[in-house]
Amino acid sequence: MRKATPERARIHNSRLVLKTIYERSQISRVAISRATQLTRPTVSEIVAGLMEQGLVEEIGYAPSSGGKRPMLLRVVDDSRYLIGVDLGRGDFRGAVINLRGEIKHRVELPLHKRRGDAALALAYDLIDALVESAGAPLLGMGIGAPGPVDVVRGVMHHAVNLDWRDIPMRERLQERYNLPVYMANDCQVAALAEHTFGHNGDEEKNLVVINVGYGIGSGIVLDGQLLYGKPLGAGEIGHVVVVQDGEQCSCGNFGCLETVASSRAIIRRAQAAARDNPHSRLNQYAASPDEITLAVICQAMQDGDESARQIVFEAGRYLGIAAANLVGVLGSCRILFAGSVTCFGQFLLDVIREEVGKRSLPLVARDTEISYAGLGPNIVLLGASALLLPSELGLL
Ligand SMILES: [Zn+2]
Repeated sequence: MRKATPERARIHNSRLVLKTIYERSQISRVAISRATQLTRPTVSEIVAGLMEQGLVEEIGYAPSSGGKRPMLLRVVDDSRYLIGVDLGRGDFRGAVINLRGEIKHRVELPLHKRRGDAALALAYDLIDALVESAGAPLLGMGIGAPGPVDVVRGVMHHAVNLDWRDIPMRERLQERYNLPVYMANDCQVAALAEHTFGHNGDEEKNLVVINVGYGIGSGIVLDGQLLYGKPLGAGEIGHVVVVQDGEQCSCGNFGCLETVASSRAIIRRAQAAARDNPHSRLNQYAASPDEITLAVICQAMQDGDESARQIVFEAGRYLGIAAANLVGVLGSCRILFAGSVTCFGQFLLDVIREEVGKRSLPLVARDTEISYAGLGPNIVLLGASALLLPSELGLL
């Protein structure tokens, strides 16, 4: 056990004060003292230290409410920068991001089917460019990885599309850049992004982000903390078997959620439907069944094509089953869907909501919010950068 030393107490108190200022847009020293239970001289001393480090600034006097007007403080959002990297399932993307999740500089490098060491070299090129462009001191970098990550050892276990196996990513990046490095899988950091920088709904509720694209995964934020599953594996709902004796999945099992509700599964079903029924509208927007994409299915569905609707309905039902199981474990929570299937809009959301309603305790279901994630295509790199905030500054 760590001993409580005056030094540790000082760091703890300093972080507490910074967090208190960060969580409010502006606050006075007196109000910090009230919120933290620290004495006013202690708060003043800590604030002086934070101002010296450039993390906090005075912004003027509060409006008068009778007595002496207190000076207000706020966090200097651009005083430190974070690097967030998305090594997701397509090209490599990264950004320099400030303490509020504003993107200052963004770099995207095409993967062009690079694998193994060539893909690793591309990741270095990306991070080199970001480190070079950062204007303020860097707190470190966060990596959103496409696959399971051992967060204890900082090892990327397996990224199928990159042909990476057991890469000690954290050690390599720390050696190369001499900066703190944090990692988690991309669905997990997406949840952290919505928790940290998203502006939706009840902040107190536990939060789940379910990413439905080529694969399916989820990230869970419990009591404000990202659930990693140590050393790995929290949120891998895409590989829960939902169809007895179903199709074989990329993981080797049969009938995983991914085989019936991922974009891959939806496209495959639509292609089969288009082949079976040459008059289907699915054939009107694609040169051949092989060229049917999610956009084609979406268009056909909006035009009232029954087979397209049915395919999306089926996928939505399975996603609803998965969401209902999460509600059963977590209780009422916020479940946000992200990824390419969000193109199916309100229709898909309604199917999922109905299924969750049917399969959960009514009281709990009523208090559960189900909607789409709001952060868009930058969600993974924003969440990766947010991995730094708790450990490096004590925020969140
Ligand atoms: Zn599977």
